[in-house]
Amino acid sequence: MDEKTFGEWSQKAAEWGSAYRASLRDRPVRAQTAPGAIAAQIPSKPPQTGEDMAAIFEDFENIILPGMTHWQHPRFFAYFPANAAPVSVIAEYLVTAMAAQCMLWQTSPAATELETRVIDWLRQAIGLPDGFSGVIQDSASSATLSAVLVMRERALNWKGNKQGLSAHAPLRIYSSDQVHTSIDRAIWVSGIGEENLVRIPAAGPLHAMDCQALEAAIIRDKDAGFLPAGVIACTGGTSTGACDDIAEVVRVAHKHGLYVHVDAAWAGSAMICEEFRSLWAGVEEADSVVFNPHKWLGAQFDCSAHFIRNPDDLVRTLAIQPEYLKTHGRDGIINYSEWTIPLGRRFRALKLWFLLRFHGLDGLKTMIRNHVAWANRLAARLGANENFEIVTAPRFSLFSFRHRGGADSDAHNIALVNAINDDGRIYLTQTRVDGRVAIRFQAGQFDMTEADADVAFDVITEVAAGMANR
Ligand code: PLP
Repeated sequence: MDEKTFGEWSQKAAEWGSAYRASLRDRPVRAQTAPGAIAAQIPSKPPQTGEDMAAIFEDFENIILPGMTHWQHPRFFAYFPANAAPVSVIAEYLVTAMAAQCMLWQTSPAATELETRVIDWLRQAIGLPDGFSGVIQDSASSATLSAVLVMRERALNWKGNKQGLSAHAPLRIYSSDQVHTSIDRAIWVSGIGEENLVRIPAAGPLHAMDCQALEAAIIRDKDAGFLPAGVIACTGGTSTGACDDIAEVVRVAHKHGLYVHVDAAWAGSAMICEEFRSLWAGVEEADSVVFNPHKWLGAQFDCSAHFIRNPDDLVRTLAIQPEYLKTHGRDGIINYSEWTIPLGRRFRALKLWFLLRFHGLDGLKTMIRNHVAWANRLAARLGANENFEIVTAPRFSLFSFRHRGGADSDAHNIALVNAINDDGRIYLTQTRVDGRVAIRFQAGQFDMTEADADVAFDVITEVAAGMANR
């Protein structure tokens, strides 16, 4: 592609992007296509000769777009958001154009030095003390896997990487049943084994881990010859926003020499607002913390902030240093690829820099406070309707509810969430609370307004009434 054509199509892509964003409210949130419908329109054989750019773009609009679920739709209330504030999209255009691979300081000094700066801005923004260093990971899953590997190596006196696990007593990691399944996967992938992830019961209004049970489990395991290595606590669990008592988890874990990792993938963004910080009080004593600015804060996916009290432990666990990756004579620089599992690194700091500068912390705080207020208001409206029950009260901007109806409540509420999502005006996800199906609602999309929460109320009540009348 010559420079002129590249320029023209780049311009067209940017114009398309802004028109697309403007059109979102008129589109169904969740893709309404049947499985296989998109693949059926794509030839099974690759093209032998190059094709015209206009034809490729036309197919993008006609074939691909109808099969997209619109994560930037202001009425995306499913899962957790993957926000891309427009300013972070602009930063990503620039990153894409430069296409730098930022694995070492010298492969793009600005990427490394900006990362050090903006990750520290984020640390300050969420109120973590200055004893924490940080690195941008692709996902919370990667950060948690790294943390579990550090737990493993610490507990094995740094011998696991060399010797494997068979020569050692089985390790034990502890968490409640409210943590994300990325924690389960980190335990399998690290070779610790699913059976050695000890589930501690969670209870109370925040579904917090029972710390007496945690301590009893650690002592029991030590007596039985296991090697307790760490605890994974959550602030804002995926299902209903569960929050462990971090101070108490840390107290028990550190008393027994265990490492504590806090998964706040979603709720960490809310900690830029001082009034939510009591929900993770004690976090300043944790050994590592992860949160995803790509979830609620508005940094285009992917962007996960991983804070570590002792980065040397991370480097000791993960760094690879063949001769060609050495940066001789550069004392004091950071090669962030030594802090992560993948070697190659995208330039993720730029979108954070643009985002934080353009909106300022005040702008982002207002967005988060609005989401929390609108979720609370919607929960109150649904709770006041006799046909609905609020199953878990709003935690940050997430609550869950059930429609009363149908002989089989689980089947009825699954049918309801499917019918709501088929309607297309909003998008929700189901979960299970104490074994029973409930429907989740989270407010978090960057361009959401209060009127969008009102639409959610209308759609939920209309669709449910339609089902009841059938
Ligand atoms: N932790 C929590 C609490 C989550 O909700 C999620 C995903 O929604 C994850 C971890 C995994 O995040 P990622 O997709 O960044 O790996």
